[in-house]
Amino acid sequence: MGRRGRWPGTWKAVCDSCGFEFPSDELRERWDGFMVCVEDYETKHPLLDIRIRPERIAPAWVRPKGEPIFLHNCNIISSSCYTGLGVADCMRADNTQFTYEVLKDLNGGLEVYTE
Ligand SMILES: [Zn+2]
Repeated sequence: MGRRGRWPGTWKAVCDSCGFEFPSDELRERWDGFMVCVEDYETKHPLLDIRIRPERIAPAWVRPKGEPIFLHNCNIISSSCYTGLGVADCMRADNTQFTYEVLKDLNGGLEVYTE
């Protein structure tokens, strides 16, 4: 018991930060509740008191994804110059590369263009 009387009126306490022993009157309560020595004492940083609004992760509203819209593409049948097989905005008057019968067969034998 060689330490008896070394710290009269105090007791041996351990710093919560560095772990060294100190007389109990040398430790101070830090802002986070830890009992620390003078070297480990620090004031609370002001940025820790800033209140930030919680962030909303999901958007406020959404709507279901719509069906895709496919535009008509011209092909060898719809761009032909023949009535019934050619389609408006696709027909080319000079497109006589294939005969009406060939294109009709390609169209499944129908005289009206079908997709
Ligand atoms: Zn310490």
